[in-house]
Amino acid sequence: MSYQAPLKDMLFVMNELANLQGVSQLPGCEDASPETAEAVLEESAKFVAGEIAPLNHAGDKEPSYWKDGNVFTSKGFKEAFKQFADAGWQGLQHPTDFGGQGLPKLVGTPCVEMLHGANLAFALVALLSDGAIEALLTAGSDEMKATYLEPLVTGKWTGTMNLTEPQAGSDLAAVRTRAVPQDDGTYKIFGTKIFITYGEHDMAENIIHLVLARTPNAPEGVKGISLFIVPKFMVNADGSLGARNDAHCVSIEHKLGIKASPTAVLQFGDNGGAIGTLVGEENRGLEYMFIMMNAARFGVGMQGIGLSENAYQQAVAFAKDRVQSRDLAGSAGPVSIIHHPDVRRLLMNMRSQTEAARALAYVGAALYDAAHHHADAATRAENQAVYEYLVPIIKGWSTELSQDVARDGVQVHGGMGFIEETGAAQHYRDAKILTIYEGTTAIQANDLVGRKTVRDGGKVAKGLIAQVRATEAELAKLDGADFAAIRKHLAQGAADLEAVVEYVAGNMKTDIKAVFAGSVTYLKLAGIVLGGWQMARAAVISQQKLDAGDSDASFYRAKIVTARFFADHFLTQSSGMRTAIIEGSAGVLALSEEQF
Ligand SMILES: Cc1cc2nc3c(=O)[nH]c(=O)nc-3n(C[C@H](O)[C@H](O)[C@H](O)COP(=O)(O)OP(=O)(O)OC[C@H]3O[C@@H](n4cnc5c(N)ncnc54)[C@H](O)[C@@H]3O)c2cc1C
Repeated sequence: MSYQAPLKDMLFVMNELANLQGVSQLPGCEDASPETAEAVLEESAKFVAGEIAPLNHAGDKEPSYWKDGNVFTSKGFKEAFKQFADAGWQGLQHPTDFGGQGLPKLVGTPCVEMLHGANLAFALVALLSDGAIEALLTAGSDEMKATYLEPLVTGKWTGTMNLTEPQAGSDLAAVRTRAVPQDDGTYKIFGTKIFITYGEHDMAENIIHLVLARTPNAPEGVKGISLFIVPKFMVNADGSLGARNDAHCVSIEHKLGIKASPTAVLQFGDNGGAIGTLVGEENRGLEYMFIMMNAARFGVGMQGIGLSENAYQQAVAFAKDRVQSRDLAGSAGPVSIIHHPDVRRLLMNMRSQTEAARALAYVGAALYDAAHHHADAATRAENQAVYEYLVPIIKGWSTELSQDVARDGVQVHGGMGFIEETGAAQHYRDAKILTIYEGTTAIQANDLVGRKTVRDGGKVAKGLIAQVRATEAELAKLDGADFAAIRKHLAQGAADLEAVVEYVAGNMKTDIKAVFAGSVTYLKLAGIVLGGWQMARAAVISQQKLDAGDSDASFYRAKIVTARFFADHFLTQSSGMRTAIIEGSAGVLALSEEQF
């Protein structure tokens, strides 16, 4: 069974939870009416189901390969990327001035989710280009924008992100690649970058590497890192391609998952120096790269959600088809396994977590749109702060849960899940990278604690908790056991999150190691409470639709049931997490190194 975009749920979240109508009234977003958005999503769904999803399993079986410095991507990838680019999908969210379609992030995000859901390994090339575009839009000179943006936005060229070196992974202070200034204002780049996604491939005419390097006498650590554009082929003044630059792929990795996506070792400057151009000012590279990373981190969160959706769809199809054992309530013969309570529990785990993560991410996308387009500067700043708080959660939590979802998908398949031909095993393998690249979950949690919670004394977090409490008040107005349960567990979740935010903000100075011992659990708690909040909002809106006599009663009833499940099975974990964070650091830190 091939992936189909969950259009109905996507449109529900966009319209009802993320306020697409409101986004489409922002200056510059007027073209994104709900009708246009629906048409865009339908086209995108058709394209990914028809052209991209069918390449997923084949790419896993026959990965990209390296030969004599060139990388040959899996069968069909090159042609599919051309179709993707020609149809304008790369430029969906990028400015019309550079060949894009200028649609808001809220409309682009479901399309990105679909692409990742259909084929993670393929979609990565677009994700990295998005990040490069974002960095150049923010920090590039006018000349750089004129030279590089249109070919990137239209998918004629692709972009990469070159941070990692053998000794510099999570710790970019250790970057050693050198950039030596030349008389003509360019730099010569020397060094080795590893793990570079789509660092070399045959899907586009040129590859624009964004490279972190140090200039001579730069300060130690992250304050001495600069950002350079190093194209694979130099670009002539008229935009045509010039000489081959001294940046070469010396090998690609053999990996657990996302096998079709080439992960390159790039050697810069082995033949005299790769020519690079400084982006912005010297020593501000990490700051610029963070722009790219925030875009890419959000994108990786969408990878987790897309993959979860695909794993769920496959598991549902299998559970309806596979016949095994009698129904517990009695049946003439064996029944399909979807009748067994534990299989339903697995499917509801998968479904509810995917829906919660999707809802939170789309709400985040709408905040980004308001942060960029709202007419009022103070409102823009407020939205930006909330968006930035959510980015590590959208990245960290959505990808952590995608591994649970993919694992449950294998479990639903039983032995067939362990056998490669069903595709369930591929999801499980592919999911593992998502909590590692673009900053591991621990690095996301460090960001959440340090920059996003301690720096403002928990102000943004508490603002969100106040909004959760407003939803609790809405729930209180509704009758029935479902709403009572959702409200009870959401209220407890909000109280637990608030206590943890206070603990984190209050203890950073006195007991920093204890705070960081609980950082990943804090990230997951924030995801569960804020995701659970969106599920609760969805339930309230669904009840209003039912009360108004909406003809799609089955969809809205299922929304309420799914929100209740999430509350009973995930929100209820909040108190244990609170205890682990506030009281559990001693056990994390007590053993000496020798005792391990
Ligand atoms: C398939 C693939 C594609 C990639 N694509 C790219 C790319 O396109 N561009 C690029 O530049 N890089 C890329 N990377 C590199 C990736 O971003 C790094 O692997 C990642 O940031 C982790 O760095 P590391 O592997 O050195 O692990 P390490 O940094 O050595 O981390 C090992 C463990 O220590 C933990 N740890 C380290 N420091 C801390 C800390 N301060 N606090 C808490 N825990 C910590 C980590 O969470 C992790 O669990 C890719 C990697 C892979 C595998």
